[in-house]
Amino acid sequence: MCGIIGYIGQREASSILIGGLKCLEYRGYDSAGMAVFDGQNIQDIKIKGKIFGLAKALEKKNLPGKLGIAHTRWATHGAPSIINAHPHFCCSRHIAIVHNGIIENYANLRKVLIKEGHHFSSETDSEVLAHLIEKYHKHKSLTKAIQLALKQVIGAYALVVISATEPQKMIAIKKSSSLILGLGQKEYLLASDASAIIPHTKKVIYLDDNEMVVLSKNGYRIHNLGNNHLIKKKVETINWNLTQISKDGFKTFMLKEIFEQPESIANAFRGRFIPEKGQIKLGGLETIESKLPHLSRIIIVACGSSWHAGLVGGSLIEELAKIPVKVEYASEFRYRYPVVGPDCLVIAISQSGETADTIAALELAKTKKALTFGICNVVGSSIARLVDAGAYLHAGPEIGVATTKGFTSQLIVLTILAIHFANLKKTINRKNAQKILKELTRLPVLIKKLLDQSGSLAELAQKLKNTHNCLYLGRGYNFPIALEGALKLKEISYIHAEGYPAAEMKHGPIALIDKKMPTIFIATQDKTYKKIISNMLEVKARNGMIIALATVGDKKITSIADKVIYIPRTIDFLMPVLNTIPCQLLAYHIAILKGHDIDKPRNLAKSVTVE
Ligand code: GLU
Repeated sequence: MCGIIGYIGQREASSILIGGLKCLEYRGYDSAGMAVFDGQNIQDIKIKGKIFGLAKALEKKNLPGKLGIAHTRWATHGAPSIINAHPHFCCSRHIAIVHNGIIENYANLRKVLIKEGHHFSSETDSEVLAHLIEKYHKHKSLTKAIQLALKQVIGAYALVVISATEPQKMIAIKKSSSLILGLGQKEYLLASDASAIIPHTKKVIYLDDNEMVVLSKNGYRIHNLGNNHLIKKKVETINWNLTQISKDGFKTFMLKEIFEQPESIANAFRGRFIPEKGQIKLGGLETIESKLPHLSRIIIVACGSSWHAGLVGGSLIEELAKIPVKVEYASEFRYRYPVVGPDCLVIAISQSGETADTIAALELAKTKKALTFGICNVVGSSIARLVDAGAYLHAGPEIGVATTKGFTSQLIVLTILAIHFANLKKTINRKNAQKILKELTRLPVLIKKLLDQSGSLAELAQKLKNTHNCLYLGRGYNFPIALEGALKLKEISYIHAEGYPAAEMKHGPIALIDKKMPTIFIATQDKTYKKIISNMLEVKARNGMIIALATVGDKKITSIADKVIYIPRTIDFLMPVLNTIPCQLLAYHIAILKGHDIDKPRNLAKSVTVE
């Protein structure tokens, strides 16, 4: 989420900004815009679609000036459209801002600002920033106004501000979204990543959270947003090339996205619950909240990995909220004669929001008067527009075709939904809800620990790379993760793999076991642990190779498994999120060793818009 570039200096800003946006294109976006101070006013151009369109518009409407900001937007709040594209302005158009990230409390801020007489032009969360700064800028300097405004803001932001009242300045602040300062000759650039900066300078400063940078063409000052203390930052020299930078130094987008999961997961739950009350705040549900108590069942429709997430979600909802849930392949649902009606909530899960079968399943559910809810990543996508209500993943663009962060974010949103339903039905007490939510907030740290094991999974990949078949076994909440692990291996390494409920192995797949066939057991400790150990012994008795995902501290398992991957401890409901990570990394490293095109595996498409 997505791209920012700002320029202050002696050259014409617009061409530098357009060049910068082109470099940031790889990050994915749906619209773009630019604002330049022409000596008197701030002029802007915005488009929906590609930078090419912005460059064309710029040929018609010249934006002269040496101070400017530009943005590629990947919508989180409000559809992709020209009015929602950044930069956003305050009422008097003196202040223009570009923002990456999410303002969690924008709805409240917006209400207050409207009461105070501000007029909003867009549906975005970001626009509140321009108006809030305007409010304080009436009596304070721009710097002070930004500081006062941000005191009221909860959320994640990389924010760049310019003002026609103090046009010798450009001010930026960062919290939980990336922002880099480029130091040129009597000119400065700000950008979401170094790709937009290196055509101009290799000297950069990586800004940290809560740092505010005040730039003029003659110098810069960085201070702490909270206490105003000046901060001395190290100037770094970039020695990466452009392709490396677009992937943040990672070899592939998929690996970058795997490593982004601590952040994408935090974005999926950020601002969506009140920890001390154990309560969920899902804005997307408000419109249908009154109808929820009258529902008697839920049907989840999805395809591929989203269907696996649906299986986990279905079990969570049944266990926590005691509502019967059926999880269906959208492609099957649409051609059956399913019993679905007004007493039914149909939840459609699709990363892209464009999956053809899921759309058709939803349309069918709507003709039967079911209430519909969507879980998508892409704002304004077909499914998002079709449903009665929904929740976005906020995972940021996913470029690798095989989903990674999209899948784990789906698990998080489904967990939140399950707690919400349980709260509404009073099938969970406050203490339990608090406990799950507390564990949820620990996930980013636990995932970081798992990502540290990437090296040892790469070693394991060496041993597995020549295998032709592989079995993934799990039980309970981890059975869908066995399916997802197998799917990931198939998708990118082209090795045949099957996911099975561990106990089902005896009913067929056991015939395949021999010393050449690896079996990956998801055997972290939960109520099925003892049972899964028995299944493991059955494989061992037939000389099968065993790889086990086990809970940290489980020594017993080392005497059975050939290789153990340790997973940090958390509650059963959240184990699927953690167990997914090593499965992703293992599939990834095997595929790399086999020399495959990781981000574009053969025969696969990112969004399956055909039946
Ligand atoms: N939340 C903002 C919006 O929807 C910014 C999205 C972005 O980072 O591109 O406009």
